Amino acid sequence: MNQTKQARITYRKSKTASKRLERMISDIIFKHVKDLVFIMKVEHDKQFRYLFANENGLLHAGMSTRDIGKTIEEVLPSCLANRLQKQYLKAAKTGKEVVFQDEVRLENDQQVLGETLLTPIKEVNGDVQYIVAVTRDITENFKEKHRLIESEQRYRSLVDHNLDAVFSIDLKGKILDVNPAAQMLTGYTVKQLKSKKIFSLICETDLQSFNEVLSETKVGNAKESLDCRFMHRQGQYLTVHLKTIPILIHSEITGMYVIIRDLTEQAESTELIKYMAFHDQLTGLRNRRALLDHLDDLVKRKQRSSYEFALLFLDIDRFKYLNDTLGHLVGDQILKQVAERLIDIQKEKCTVYRQGGDEFIIVLEDTDRQGAGEFAQKVLSRFNESFYFNSQEYYITPSIGISLFPNDGKDSETLIKSADEALYSVKEKGKAHYQFYRADMNSTGVNVITLEAHLRKAIERRELELYYQPQVNLITNEISSFEALLRWNNSELGFISPAEFIPLAEDTGLIIPIGNWVIDRACRQIKEWTEKTGKPIRIAVNISPKQFLQLDLVRIIKNAIDLYGIDPSMLEIEITEGAMQDTKETIPILKKLKDLGITISVDDFGTGYSSLSYLKKFPIDVLKIDQSFIRDIKFNGKDAAIITTIIHLGKSLGMEVIAEGVEEQSQVDFLTDAHCEKAQGFFFARPLSAEEAEVKFINKALISQ
Ligand code: C2E
Ligand code: MG
Ligand code: MG
Repeated sequence: MNQTKQARITYRKSKTASKRLERMISDIIFKHVKDLVFIMKVEHDKQFRYLFANENGLLHAGMSTRDIGKTIEEVLPSCLANRLQKQYLKAAKTGKEVVFQDEVRLENDQQVLGETLLTPIKEVNGDVQYIVAVTRDITENFKEKHRLIESEQRYRSLVDHNLDAVFSIDLKGKILDVNPAAQMLTGYTVKQLKSKKIFSLICETDLQSFNEVLSETKVGNAKESLDCRFMHRQGQYLTVHLKTIPILIHSEITGMYVIIRDLTEQAESTELIKYMAFHDQLTGLRNRRALLDHLDDLVKRKQRSSYEFALLFLDIDRFKYLNDTLGHLVGDQILKQVAERLIDIQKEKCTVYRQGGDEFIIVLEDTDRQGAGEFAQKVLSRFNESFYFNSQEYYITPSIGISLFPNDGKDSETLIKSADEALYSVKEKGKAHYQFYRADMNSTGVNVITLEAHLRKAIERRELELYYQPQVNLITNEISSFEALLRWNNSELGFISPAEFIPLAEDTGLIIPIGNWVIDRACRQIKEWTEKTGKPIRIAVNISPKQFLQLDLVRIIKNAIDLYGIDPSMLEIEITEGAMQDTKETIPILKKLKDLGITISVDDFGTGYSSLSYLKKFPIDVLKIDQSFIRDIKFNGKDAAIITTIIHLGKSLGMEVIAEGVEEQSQVDFLTDAHCEKAQGFFFARPLSAEEAEVKFINKALISQ
């Protein structure tokens, strides 16, 4: 064999071998490829005939090898055949690849989603002769994609609707994504935030700890930081709770989530709760708890160095009475306005507290006795100006008791107690003053509880007695009326002043039985003295505010008048101005009392109530000018003017005017000149027992008859 022949044989052999190899390869491909492969012959009448289908193709399409050579319409159910026909036609017509997705329900009822690529094979003249269809089952792919979309959506709604701000940042702190809450929290738009690094939003002082949190997160640990301060766009700081979570993708940390919860409101309410615990709600002043804390501090300081401070215990004079008569709303107003005045005086090293009720405490640091006295004087003078409530003018004064640390007490409790005792003594002596604590005070002060226990038994033990102070006619010098003043002489405690026990009687309600007893005794005395002298003798009894509002006061008075058969006009009731406030009850009560025919007088006139309009409205017979005006007649032109005015006013309204607390001739002279009708006071006589009064005045009246 020549070389050429040999080569040809070799070539032919190798060609046959390579063809066999090709067939084997394509067999393998068609058999093992998972896709469905169909080769279709395109016929002139645009029919598509199966030329080849791989095993998977036959299986999925429900075909057998016998179907090879048949057209689509012959093999497949008509609706599927139509759908496919359309796609094949498109590929045949355009000569271009066609891709379509198709859902097929398999015999086992399984739904399969396939993606088919039709590739036209053209002849030289460009006619499409074959179409190769490769269909891939994309059901799983599709499901996976759906799962991804769904989980992305879930993630988004979790993040987007989260009330906490969520920032997604890269490892360098650059903000990559944020949720709407983050925009709200920062005040920036998404775009603005995405151009920032997270550090620019953290308060400078908290940056170091924030960086530490981030470093920990970068190595895979979720971290938390409480009380971090975050900056809002408008500059204010927000107190936030911050949490960082590493973002782990394919075992690699690519960034972090920073989740931020705004705790500003919570922090504010914690602040508020703290504030409320140490402040009084009504006045805004610090409260007793704050006081005790402060005192403890000061007392401890003393252990280190010598240190003096003063404690001023203030109590508003007649507060209870004002509160009862004007109502609690006005009572609150009084406390608020008093607090405002005290705050005005507050200076460095001076703190005002509301101890409770109408009691205030001022702690004055770094001071001695003289300094504390001067300060107390300053406080008192701050109350020279009148107060206004419901456009009415009132004069309100405090009484002040002072204790000094460490002399009057080495701990807060003793200091407060000492100041309270000093205060008590001011109240006893006539209020509106200040006094320092003295060691002998606590031996004289009687415990209120003991006092109350004794007072309860005072009537049955016959310890009460009425004293009588005459009221002198300044023109005739005659005496035709008396004021009955209650006296209590206790077997154990001795003589107790009405200024001390009347307020207690009011507080405990004992004023009602005591008051009724007074009415009874006074009526009996009227009867006795009127009968003795044959002249009408009028006796005035004091009616306290609580008694005045007592429902059966009218009935009790009427019973007493009837019992003793006296002329009702001979019984006078003294009611203080405040008790006569223009309340709904006042007019009907006064009218009913007036209907009984008794005499009604206004006690302590000029001190409590500034409106004079009520004088016209109420059935009043007598005005009693308060002793405070009389006291300073000589020195105080204003007082003198007030007295003259009251006298004129009373007279013009047809009332009798009585001046109280007359102690000197000069006062008598002034009052006589001013045409005051009557006067009462030590100058003429102190309050006397019935027997003494009888000897001094009643019998005298009998003689002068
Ligand atoms: P009040 O009704 O204003 O009585 C006048 C007070 O002034 C009496 O004090 C009287 O002793 C005192 N006084 C009289 N003349 C003078 C004077 O020239 N100078 C001075 N400095 N004082 C004088 P008292 O008896 O201590 O009574 C104090 C208050 O106690 C009375 O003030 C009255 O509000 C109340 N009170 C007394 N008795 C009764 C009572 O039976 N029932 C009620 N509810 N209160 C009473
Ligand atoms: Mg009186
Ligand atoms: Mg009086």
